[in-house]
Amino acid sequence: MSQPKACDLCGLDVGVKPFVLNTPEKQLQFCCEGCLGIFGMLHDIKEMPVQNSQENTQIQPQKS
Ligand SMILES: [Zn+2]
Repeated sequence: MSQPKACDLCGLDVGVKPFVLNTPEKQLQFCCEGCLGIFGMLHDIKEMPVQNSQENTQIQPQKS
């Protein structure tokens, strides 16, 4: 079961296939490509490609 999520720009339901933008801080979801693009421009966000460990730009707590 998945909870309906609101678009991070306009607040509409993002539906079953949200447009996802990964930022260093968190993952954002949008109802459409337009909202994603506008949000990215407003906040000067460059999408972070999902990669394993080429560059450690994110500091993640590690438990041993
Ligand atoms: Zn939207």
